[in-house]
Amino acid sequence: MEITELVPGIYRVPIPIPAPLREVNCYAARGRHGWTLVDTGFHTAAAEEAWRQAFGLLGIRPSDIEAIIVTHFHPDHYGAAGWLQRLSGAPVYMHDREVAVARRVWREATVKDLETFAERQAVPGHLRPGLVERRRQVLSWVQPQPEVTPVPEGASLAVGDRSFRVLWTPGHTDGLMVLWNEEEGILLANDLILGDISPNISAGPLAAPDPLDRYLASLAKVRELPAVRVLPGHRRPFDDLRNRCDELRAHHERRLKDVVDIVRRRGEATGWEVALDLFGPVMNSSANVEFALGEAVAHLEYLARRSALTVTDEGGAVRYRLPR
Ligand SMILES: [Zn+2]
Repeated sequence: MEITELVPGIYRVPIPIPAPLREVNCYAARGRHGWTLVDTGFHTAAAEEAWRQAFGLLGIRPSDIEAIIVTHFHPDHYGAAGWLQRLSGAPVYMHDREVAVARRVWREATVKDLETFAERQAVPGHLRPGLVERRRQVLSWVQPQPEVTPVPEGASLAVGDRSFRVLWTPGHTDGLMVLWNEEEGILLANDLILGDISPNISAGPLAAPDPLDRYLASLAKVRELPAVRVLPGHRRPFDDLRNRCDELRAHHERRLKDVVDIVRRRGEATGWEVALDLFGPVMNSSANVEFALGEAVAHLEYLARRSALTVTDEGGAVRYRLPR
């Protein structure tokens, strides 16, 4: 394991994940009285092993852990929080909106919701069992679930010896928070903004309505922060926050145009057909099918809400067309 001190006292701890991105950036911050962990990985044997190794390398005893911060409910960030809480006795903090989302999402009922969503977006029948199986498996990787202390927008959280402000920045998930340290310009961005890939913006049973609109508003909100160093949830850290926000906005504007073109070319299209045309070659696993479908439908929903597309919903598969 390669642990890197990205700013003084804050270490990147790469935890392996059973997902296409292969690892998540968790962070361990040293403080005078103990350690703060930010994000946790899926709860798998490999993650436990990686955390134990990190504790050894950094000289952390479980009782030294003062707080565990989970930035959003996705399993690569939330999954091992319950296990780490049992190990350390530390409180687990999440944004207050996300606490409710996690409670709603991480139960068996949402497996069925995903299946229904896939059916309504016309995912072929032979691919749906894989989606269901994958979701059930993911559900098993977020156990035991932590006891969470909710934190509101604008609250201060200690990360090591620094104080960070909680900023609610929905879109990637509805209760996602980033942590902002004004004094030194450090943004703990998790999956709001990544350096070289575009964070997944998904519509579907796990999302609030119009997630792309929420996401673009969140980019506009953080774009104004005078950040010096951005520590993301995956891949490399970066420092050009404003530029990266602009690139991501432009990326989604291009994708919206692409979706309109696909619907125009096809005459009418289902969510699945748009996902195929956008992402066909990369839909090589159930996880990627779920991400691709959610992303396609988020863009379709954004366009439909602004009357750039019309939606026909007669109870079967939902169909999208250009307005007459
Ligand atoms: Zn995420």
